[in-house]
Amino acid sequence: MRRRVPTAGPPLHAVVVGASLAGSAAALVLSRSGGRVALVDRATFPRSKTCGELLSPDGVAALVRLGLDGAVRAAGAATIRRFELARPDGSRVAGRLPGPALSLSRERLDLLVLDGARVAGATAHLGETVVSIDGTLPKGFVVRTTARTLEARTVLGAWGRYSALDGRLGRPFFGSPASLFGFKRFLAGGAGRRFEDRAVLHVFRGGYLGLSLVEEGRVSLGALATPEVAKEAHHDLDRLLARLGKECPGLAADLEGLAPEPGPTLVSEPVHLGRRGAVLGDVLLAGDAAGVVDPYTGSGMALALRTGEAAGSLLAELAAGRVGAEALARSWERRWRKVTGSVYFFSRLFRPVFLGGFATRLVVPATAPLAGLAARLTRGAA
Ligand SMILES: Cc1cc2nc3c(=O)[nH]c(=O)nc-3n(C[C@H](O)[C@H](O)[C@H](O)COP(=O)(O)OP(=O)(O)OC[C@H]3O[C@@H](n4cnc5c(N)ncnc54)[C@H](O)[C@@H]3O)c2cc1C
Repeated sequence: MRRRVPTAGPPLHAVVVGASLAGSAAALVLSRSGGRVALVDRATFPRSKTCGELLSPDGVAALVRLGLDGAVRAAGAATIRRFELARPDGSRVAGRLPGPALSLSRERLDLLVLDGARVAGATAHLGETVVSIDGTLPKGFVVRTTARTLEARTVLGAWGRYSALDGRLGRPFFGSPASLFGFKRFLAGGAGRRFEDRAVLHVFRGGYLGLSLVEEGRVSLGALATPEVAKEAHHDLDRLLARLGKECPGLAADLEGLAPEPGPTLVSEPVHLGRRGAVLGDVLLAGDAAGVVDPYTGSGMALALRTGEAAGSLLAELAAGRVGAEALARSWERRWRKVTGSVYFFSRLFRPVFLGGFATRLVVPATAPLAGLAARLTRGAA
């Protein structure tokens, strides 16, 4: 049986679909300014996520603005100042990040941001899937979940890179064949300390993988790869890593003394990279729902926090009557473009260096200047 909510009291200013980084950042900002917000997520938290877990310096700056950096550091986040790009032939290029990055498991990070939103006053409906969104900005929206019906003035879509909602709302990438999948596993062993202060990206034939220290000396292994490699990872990660280690001696050296923690390898939904648009009908979008940046940039979480934050403050302006409903969608498109800048353009530009079939050869002479440039251009200001 569905409950109709609210039955009394002032209507919600926003229903936010997705309570991960983008959705919770938006709900936190809007709630803090007095807005009434309901967050809905099909998952219950904490939950794991296919991700390399490295939060870039501009993401750390967003955490500071949200007032959450202290909690994230206290939860055991590792501070990372340097990155290395390892070529298949074993050689490396290294550089300093534009500022300190933080690395914490998504189990902990996402829960901290969600808790920040709840403390600010947002209501969270977890373990409920949004099945339909109907309405317009002038008339308001009705959002149906598997457990209830919510009414709100606006809806923010922060449902990530791939959701059944994309299919229901007719987005063209949904259901089209995907050439890329992500996978992730934590590695354990005392050797994890060798990643103190540095994250490493290994390029191999069929994809790339990042290694980054998270809390309690564990190492997060997050990868983007062809469906064939992701399938190998799903079936037998040890065997895949042994095979890649033979092809890439630098990877074998980095994995020495580390072993996958017990449990399955997490394999993502299909990953369709690129900009998608900040508005769908009259629904505003933030985070990966509006565009998926290449994981090699380490910018996805920062963009989720920053676009969520910007959406929350625009919705607060609407609640305060400083922006009209008729101007909201256009205002959001402008602000989203300002926040995201040229990140999608540059992440697309360098994609062949990290992913192309010919990358393993091209990467040798080209990566030193490109890696530094990519870090500066795609990560934005600290
Ligand atoms: C292999 C890989 C490695 C990566 N590594 C990094 C990295 O090192 N650093 C970095 O910054 N970024 C990285 N990223 C990108 C990063 O993971 C994403 O950009 C980030 O998670 C986006 O956050 P989000 O809040 O937009 O969406 P998500 O974190 O995907 O959250 C979306 C939420 O919406 C919920 N949801 C979906 N559909 C519904 C529905 N119908 N009803 C209710 N809830 C719903 C989901 O349960 C989920 O909790 C990586 C990505 C990949 C694929």
